[in-house]
Amino acid sequence: MANLSHPMFHNDDAARAHLEAIRWPHGPNCPHCGNADQETIAKVEGRKKSHRDGLYYCNACKGTFTVTVGTVMERSKVALHKWVLAFHLYAASKKGMSAHQLHRMIGVTYKTAWFMSHRIREAMMEDVDSSGPIGGETDIVEADETYIGKAEDQKAPVSRQGRPYKSKKFGTRKQTIFSLVKRGGSVRSFVVKGATTKQIQDILFRNVPRDTALYTDESRIYHDMRWHYAEHQTVKHSAGEYVRGNVHTNTIENVFSVFKRGMRGVYQHCAEKHLHRYLAEFDFRYNRRSALEISDSQRANDAIRGAIGKRLMYQQTGTA
Ligand SMILES: [Zn+2]
Repeated sequence: MANLSHPMFHNDDAARAHLEAIRWPHGPNCPHCGNADQETIAKVEGRKKSHRDGLYYCNACKGTFTVTVGTVMERSKVALHKWVLAFHLYAASKKGMSAHQLHRMIGVTYKTAWFMSHRIREAMMEDVDSSGPIGGETDIVEADETYIGKAEDQKAPVSRQGRPYKSKKFGTRKQTIFSLVKRGGSVRSFVVKGATTKQIQDILFRNVPRDTALYTDESRIYHDMRWHYAEHQTVKHSAGEYVRGNVHTNTIENVFSVFKRGMRGVYQHCAEKHLHRYLAEFDFRYNRRSALEISDSQRANDAIRGAIGKRLMYQQTGTA
């Protein structure tokens, strides 16, 4: 965790300077027209009380902007130093953090903390198009599915009368997660409805290049993968076989176990429609784990970088 006494966690000007340094390492760019010519961008200072802090004027398009325009923080009433702190808390927390913890730690209402946490997850969501394939020649990729929402994973809360709530939110419907992990590299997870062979194969073909060595369990879903990949090895879990030389799926199972522990301890009320956001959060941290020499601060700055350009994608979660 970064040093929490840093001014950016307590002071809005310091927080803004931090965000500007991350977003605009070479000086402000106009998010409306793309103008980056520093001669034609000016800081709007103190002429009117009504001016927002950190306001810039772009002479090219005659528009004004601040560092949060076009990010998940745009139009938020929450002080910037609280946003910066929240980004750092989510980036550094090994098992995730609930909106309730955030609410207590940064002093915003529970509802605001909930919206912030979802926006931070949105920022952590990987852009699959720009992050490229998982695997390649000489790479080993483990693929596996797991289920969230089984009775043993997520107990439905019980009403005062002792009957389980029938609310859909706490339903015991299983949701399938399918994940790909490159050994020594990145993970990419998907929520798949139904988990048919075709869906799983489509995800594999779209994300894992054919020259990869693919390791899975003996599930029928992967039966003809040896025709599609340079190599396909399986372990027979049903026969008690988990490791055969370097053939195993332990890497992906460890990823699942961190996620499930996080979901059980922290995110007990994860509605179905948000599962992909939680997965994105855990994938984000795994892909920047400390074993890859990435510090908590670098991880937080990456999340802040991810907040840019995500303005439109989270609108369905409401406002804070
Ligand atoms: Zn402009």
